[in-house]
Amino acid sequence: MADQDCIFCKIIAREVPAQIIQETEDIVVIKDIAPKAPVHYLIIPKKHIRDLRVLEPCDYNVVSNLLLMAQRLAKDLPQPGAFNLVSNNGREAGQQVHHIHFHFLAGKQFPSL
Ligand code: AMP
Ligand code: ZN
Repeated sequence: MADQDCIFCKIIAREVPAQIIQETEDIVVIKDIAPKAPVHYLIIPKKHIRDLRVLEPCDYNVVSNLLLMAQRLAKDLPQPGAFNLVSNNGREAGQQVHHIHFHFLAGKQFPSL
């Protein structure tokens, strides 16, 4: 169910414009509006789920499809196709948009954890 106040739901419904990179039945990939790397995409499930903490078993396949989408996006990068995948879960962890998404980042080396 879409959330009326959610910017990603609005993008998915085409109520707000975004640069769409890929789209499948259950996922959309857009360019981040404030990129933190030369390639910065957001991999977003179409279903409004707040964050990974409330993900239910019936939606586990959405997350595996998100990972497969990251693999697909990496194939279009210059060799060796290295990338970072980041997911912020909860305000205290830096999540600003409360609709699950993975940041796909490439072309920049971040300090290792
Ligand atoms: P997070 O802090 O993990 O919730 O990340 C939210 C991301 O969404 C940030 O990197 C924002 O730059 C990005 N963002 C917010 N609004 C838009 C938008 N309208 N189009 C594209 N990216 C957006
Ligand atoms: Zn949403």
